[in-house]
Amino acid sequence: MLVMIPQLVIGLIDLTAAFLFMYGLQRMSSPATAPSGILVAGVGMLAAVLASFLYAFSVSAAAEPHLFVNVGLALIALIVGGGVAWWSGKRVAMTAMPQMVALYNGMGGGAAGAIAAVELFGGKSQGVAQLGVTLLGALIGAVSLSGSLIAWAKLDGVIKNPLRVRGQQAFNALVLLATLAVGGYIGFAAESGADPLIAMPVLITLFFGLALVFGVLMTLPIGGADMPVVISIYNAFTGLAVGLGGYVLQNPAMMIAGMVVGAAGMLLTLLMAKAMNRSVTNVLFTNFGEAPKHKQGAIKGSLKPVDAGDAGIFMRYAKEVIIVPGYGLAVAQGQQKLYEFVKLLQAAGLKVKFAIHPVAGRMPGQMDVLLAEAGVPYDLIFQLEDINDEFANADVALVIGANDVVNPAARTDKSSPIFGMPILNADKAKKVYVVKRGQGKGYAGIVNALFYGDNCDMVYGDAQAVLVKMIEAVRGLGTAAAA
Ligand code: NDP
Repeated sequence: MLVMIPQLVIGLIDLTAAFLFMYGLQRMSSPATAPSGILVAGVGMLAAVLASFLYAFSVSAAAEPHLFVNVGLALIALIVGGGVAWWSGKRVAMTAMPQMVALYNGMGGGAAGAIAAVELFGGKSQGVAQLGVTLLGALIGAVSLSGSLIAWAKLDGVIKNPLRVRGQQAFNALVLLATLAVGGYIGFAAESGADPLIAMPVLITLFFGLALVFGVLMTLPIGGADMPVVISIYNAFTGLAVGLGGYVLQNPAMMIAGMVVGAAGMLLTLLMAKAMNRSVTNVLFTNFGEAPKHKQGAIKGSLKPVDAGDAGIFMRYAKEVIIVPGYGLAVAQGQQKLYEFVKLLQAAGLKVKFAIHPVAGRMPGQMDVLLAEAGVPYDLIFQLEDINDEFANADVALVIGANDVVNPAARTDKSSPIFGMPILNADKAKKVYVVKRGQGKGYAGIVNALFYGDNCDMVYGDAQAVLVKMIEAVRGLGTAAAA
């Protein structure tokens, strides 16, 4: 032994890290405090990582000869992993964030699975409880890894369509049963000391293989608008797997961090499922996303294109405008121009508010982050339930790059894939302007009757370019009119 570092010191650092994770998470609940929350949680993670190096001072005599190699390997892994994360985090586009979250989530599940693999292959887990927890962590971690990778491939467009075949659910159930049976047998053989029929390493490999295959099979049929919920479920899985890994390693920081992530992921899953009017089991076991039986009825009315400048001037003379941002705003990176336009309207005495749908964009909170990036004050931003009744009194609803979240089919068309999803009541405003590039559909792939409504005009073009024209038009009215 090199120097005795009491476990108490490591325990205290771990507990401090766990506190920082929770405090950071609490600060992430508001866009105003979220950036500092992320920093606080990051400091917690740094402390937990550094504390893990202190174990090097108290390794067993058998491990001592490998100490320098192992610490060296850990440092190399940290530098490579940290470097890749830093590089990819800096260059990822806002619109590619969901893919990145899916990928990193998969890494977390994989790491938890790897810890369990080391324990299982090394025959380190002793006792029914510890062995059971290790096997459970291995199963959940492996499912989360392969499932998240499929989710990434779907979001990134690598896998274009959900893969569905007859009897798929029954086959998936069989694979899960086989995984549980192999896991149970490993536990039984290891605990009873009985000679397993197949060598233990082969059984453990089979167990991991089946769990990985189950993650793939479970995610392949899920498509379309359910993907955000799926990522969130895998997030909860990863947290759980990490928490179980923490129990196996008796590491309080890992235990608490894992449970916090698991609980947060599960709550987010439930909130998102509610926002899309889906139950979680419905998301996982029903082929949602593309409704095969959905036949959209003929839509009355016509699309009425108008000039961006004219729409801008119309808004300038309104009293209240509610803006509905959506995925297209993030694609166009039009948030700065949007806020510039809003400031012009405010300077002219208008009441302007932003209405955020919980699943607008391609990840939870994406619109809040986008608007915060442009410096939009938080008191102008309202969530669906707080603003929906106000549309009826608004002179204009400016729908910018949003589609599914304002589709009235969700209220009326029982066969629609988004039926039952609460939507923003943009159609209730006296006038609606929809900014989009053309006839492109939203994520759910359905036509939007709102666009054909009598009170709705279409402003075609890239969101940023349209906003530039609106700003120019309002400024062109002269100082007196613009302010
Ligand atoms: P949608 O995907 O429904 O619609 C976006 C619209 O933006 C399209 O109709 C497109 O039309 C338009 N658009 C695209 N690029 C531009 C551009 N450069 N300038 C102007 N318009 C543009 O977005 P919503 O935000 O309304 O809805 C989100 C959808 O995504 C929901 O169905 C949700 O379930 C799903 N989802 C949500 C996730 C989340 O966690 N928030 C994650 C994954 C999916 P056009 O091509 O004609 O321009």
